[in-house]
Amino acid sequence: MFKLLIHGGAGAVRRDHYSNQEISEYKKSLKEVLDFGVEQLAHEQSAEDVVVKVVSLLEDNPLFNSGRGSVLTSDGRVQMDAAVMCGQDGSCGAVTLAESIKNPVQMAQWVMRKTPHRLLGGRDVDLLAKAQGFQMEDVDYFVTEKRREQLAAAKAKGAIQLDHDSEDHSQTVGAVALDVFGNVAAATSTGGLTNKMPGRVSDSAIVGAGTFADNQSLAFSATGTGDVFIQNMSGFDAHALMVYSKKSLSEACDEVLEKVKVRGGRGGVIALRANGESYMAFNSLGMFRGQMDSEMKWEVAIF
Ligand code: ASP
Repeated sequence: MFKLLIHGGAGAVRRDHYSNQEISEYKKSLKEVLDFGVEQLAHEQSAEDVVVKVVSLLEDNPLFNSGRGSVLTSDGRVQMDAAVMCGQDGSCGAVTLAESIKNPVQMAQWVMRKTPHRLLGGRDVDLLAKAQGFQMEDVDYFVTEKRREQLAAAKAKGAIQLDHDSEDHSQTVGAVALDVFGNVAAATSTGGLTNKMPGRVSDSAIVGAGTFADNQSLAFSATGTGDVFIQNMSGFDAHALMVYSKKSLSEACDEVLEKVKVRGGRGGVIALRANGESYMAFNSLGMFRGQMDSEMKWEVAIF
């Protein structure tokens, strides 16, 4: 048995913000990513490799807020975060404040597998990625016109916002997978929040906050007001609720989202257990999401 869940962000995703064509473009992109990832799982690729490959595809797609198409800091820069965690042995790696790595999630996996560290960031992680032969891009690759417009609109309102709270919408991405060997893994990647302070780190890069995986409990990837997910250590909290308090997958995820709400945040999670049970939930208006399993049963939804 294998299974894959993906998300492309949660927030004030209103149906009337989107043309029918935009909706079908998002759905088509999500389905293509599911098809690709499930084929990889069917070929006995590990959950870890599949979440990295799937998130890389989403990073390459400018519709989403990660890699190409990342939202902009208040001084108009791209600063990207990503993390990956393997449920089999708790291995994890992350990068933060990357400015020119084409696929930050691949560098996160490299940090996990090739260094004694868990989180590398800033100028040094860009230099290291370049030295290691990762594909690097300049600012024109990452920054889209839509993101410039979103930054201008956010500045006019004096807001720091989830990208989909503005007129144009594309979001943080994540994936959780279960492979044929019974292991789960999670990966998340983001450009963060529009008009964020330069140097701000998102929950996506913080293992235990927006990204978490443990075969005992769940693989977890979050999207939403990341500062609250960090404050709550939401990913680890979901794990703890399941392992220590014997909560079910859905109870743990609902409780985590409720705690985010209590502290003024909102967003969504995708979660998967090693027995194949999965759950997707959000307390915002919508979440770009999809899932597919080894029987090729699939679902893609936004609202
Ligand atoms: N969680 C991300 C952040 O706070 C934003 C998002 O999910 O869209 O940077």
